[in-house]
Amino acid sequence: MTKKLKHYINGQWVESSNPNKLDILNPATQEIIARAPNATRDETEEAIKIAKRTFESGRWSDQSPQERAAVLLQIADRLQENIDELRDLEVQNNGKTKREAQSDAEEAVNTFRYYAGLLTMPNGQAYEAPGDMQTLVVKEPLGVAGLIVPWNFPLLMSVWKIAPALAAGNSILLKPAEITPMTAVKLFELIDRTDLPKGAANLVMGTGPVVGQTIAESNDVDMVSFTGSTGVGRLIMQAAAGNMKKVSLELGGKSPNIIFDDADIETAVDFSLFGIFMGAGQVCSSGSRILVQEGIYDEFIEKYIKRAKKIRVGPGTDEHSQMGAIVSEKHLKSILHYILMGKEEGANLALGGNRIEEDGLEKGFFVEPTVFTDVTTDMRIVREEIFGPVVTIQKFKDEGEAIKIANDTEYGLAGAVFSTDQNKALRVIKKVRAGITWINAYHLTTIQAPWGGYKQSGIGRSLGTYGLDEYQETKQINISIDSKPIDWF
Ligand code: NAD
Repeated sequence: MTKKLKHYINGQWVESSNPNKLDILNPATQEIIARAPNATRDETEEAIKIAKRTFESGRWSDQSPQERAAVLLQIADRLQENIDELRDLEVQNNGKTKREAQSDAEEAVNTFRYYAGLLTMPNGQAYEAPGDMQTLVVKEPLGVAGLIVPWNFPLLMSVWKIAPALAAGNSILLKPAEITPMTAVKLFELIDRTDLPKGAANLVMGTGPVVGQTIAESNDVDMVSFTGSTGVGRLIMQAAAGNMKKVSLELGGKSPNIIFDDADIETAVDFSLFGIFMGAGQVCSSGSRILVQEGIYDEFIEKYIKRAKKIRVGPGTDEHSQMGAIVSEKHLKSILHYILMGKEEGANLALGGNRIEEDGLEKGFFVEPTVFTDVTTDMRIVREEIFGPVVTIQKFKDEGEAIKIANDTEYGLAGAVFSTDQNKALRVIKKVRAGITWINAYHLTTIQAPWGGYKQSGIGRSLGTYGLDEYQETKQINISIDSKPIDWF
């Protein structure tokens, strides 16, 4: 049965006044699984006002860190109790595999628990200042945080924002991507079953140019935290300039994955497959540019293709599937367009390149794992984020050339180095201009570490203590402990 979704505003499930609804599809089957509201500007502004009023009431923002931590732990517990449903909804709406969705859901639980714990840690500073002054530095919530998330990790990206934003005492308004609202709706059903004051967390569904733009422009929103493409990130910055709201941007990437001659080749092949084909390449930090030193270039390619051929593509509901569907027909077309472009640019298509339309997959949006070799840095398939299961493999001579090619990009999100020489690996990774990096691994991280990019991959950091700081103001309070006049005039 097609589910009818509603906004969640001020603790109520609310219908949209807009008669045009958004069809929500399962990308593995094209079945319509839900109809979502398509909010108007007025509805979005109303939700912002509720969030603002709730913030000003102090019902959440004035609660002690211990009280806020207790609510975050309640949310974590509700998520844990419903983890199978969250996983299955993500598979159904996003197209990813069960294993991937399970890992996302577990990480969502851990994120709420982590921020609950962080709230009980010291958060501020004290200084002895000249003139018999004592200076305190305290952290305060910003106010209303507008949270705009993409479709590739619908649950996890929402939680990466909601958990620290609420931990800091803000009121929030979440806008999921228009095509993947299912797990966000479930998350708010679960939040509704906790002691979070009504109006502190609100959910509005709709399009980017209407709901997202309204949030980014609003004078009543104090911060916008956005994860998505670099192009839209630029629009968010412009819209946010009106009231100088704080902006946090997690954007795209085209990350280099450097394999030296002395690498353990089996490990390098293994992580380089994981680096691009996890999530069908629809991952911001994907290692989409593999750079291989000339001495092992041919051997690496042979081993890489042999294993990539074995990747089982299929619906996430099938336990045997290792790579799921592309999220939408529009995105599928964009990926296929890039593959065509790669061929026209003269790259060697060494594997894949097609939509998969047999073995019962014809109704879904499935693409073969695709490998281009013999590419050059000027090709568009090497420069632009394809955001699909498409990887380029490029040859380099020495350390200097590897670093030069790695940094020849407008992005700076992630990067990796594979080498058994630890000194070289560390030397090279320190030269890679990116915020999330690995040595002899890919994609493995922890929520304690800051997540974010250099250059056009973003501004600010999610997760860790940095992630909490994004949602806080910092105030100095100077206290005279000797009330003598200063006698200046
Ligand atoms: P997108 O930029 O198209 O959309 C992201 C969100 O912004 C959606 O909710 C969308 O509705 C909204 N939006 C669209 N136009 C808007 C506008 N004019 N004003 C305000 N909001 C608007 O991105 P996407 O296609 O959903 O996601 C893929 C992109 O996200 C990729 O570039 C990927 O690299 C990036 N991403 C980055 C990270 C990271 O941590 N750096 C994580 C995940 C995804």
